[in-house]
Amino acid sequence: MIIIIYLFVMILLLSVGLVLVIISTNKREGRWGINTSTVVCPKCGTTFPKRRKPANLRQALWGGGTCQNCSCEVDKWGKELNKI
Ligand SMILES: [Zn+2]
Repeated sequence: MIIIIYLFVMILLLSVGLVLVIISTNKREGRWGINTSTVVCPKCGTTFPKRRKPANLRQALWGGGTCQNCSCEVDKWGKELNKI
């Protein structure tokens, strides 16, 4: 009986994760989506390399990168991030 409950919870969590990814991908914003298209710097128009090198933990976890040309930081959708 316990194993059935465990499986049910696992499937439920996976479904929630999948829904988050699908919604975020469709909206083209947020952390959960998957961006397969090329990202271009919003400031100078430089194309980001496909094979990205994360400059910090946030980039490693959620994607995005820093522009090689103007060091502008963007998320995985190519939107500029506000620097603190
Ligand atoms: Zn740039």
